[in-house]
Amino acid sequence: MDIEAKQREELHGLVQSLLERVRIDCELRKPLSYLTADNEPLVRPPAFTGGDEHDLEAVRTELGDCRRCPLGDRRQHLVFGEGNPSAELVFVGEAPGADEDAQGRPFVGRAGQLLTKIIAAMGLKREEVYICNILKCRPPGNRNPLPDEIAACEPFLIRQLGVIRPRVICAMGSIAAHALLKSEAPISVLRGRFHSYQGIPLMPTYHPAYLLRNPGAKKQVWEDVQGIMKRLDERKDQ
Ligand code: URA
Repeated sequence: MDIEAKQREELHGLVQSLLERVRIDCELRKPLSYLTADNEPLVRPPAFTGGDEHDLEAVRTELGDCRRCPLGDRRQHLVFGEGNPSAELVFVGEAPGADEDAQGRPFVGRAGQLLTKIIAAMGLKREEVYICNILKCRPPGNRNPLPDEIAACEPFLIRQLGVIRPRVICAMGSIAAHALLKSEAPISVLRGRFHSYQGIPLMPTYHPAYLLRNPGAKKQVWEDVQGIMKRLDERKDQ
């Protein structure tokens, strides 16, 4: 593809995600919310050194025994997220599965074990990063989250990310990438390069559960993960 065609495609992608963002804002009856004071960009003053676990606890407290969508009535446990409140890297998945619902912790099943290995291959420990999901409750039969469920849960994820203020976000799978980027582009198109989530570099990649079914995609995930490691290292030098 020549450069002009590539630029046209990128511009098209940008316009699509902006339109999607406006559409969702309209659905939420918060037109252009990302430009208004009650949805300040997550950019913090340079002196800010990372999240405070008490601030995360405050978000958890406000979430309470959440029944903002019908998933609350069916869950065993709400899965808030776990890890370092000052993490430089946050992984965002889709929603709890059966194991996560049973234990109240994100990514503890088979896909979670693979994620733990990916984190270790990056030279990090699970406790050093923060892991959470677009949804905090398990959808029945692990079906895809519905737009209303995402809309009900999203304010809390936004606030978690605002407290942690990571240097990089990794969105795992199309549900996470679409919800965070307000884009409907396929994950195969989105992955492999950084996007911006409220000023934070965001790398979409394949979901570990997809890798369990398609081990051939591990190579691409490794490329994405190396991009993240490079970005984290670059930022350390500055
Ligand atoms: N899949 C996800 O997207 N999240 C989890 O926490 C577990 C499996």
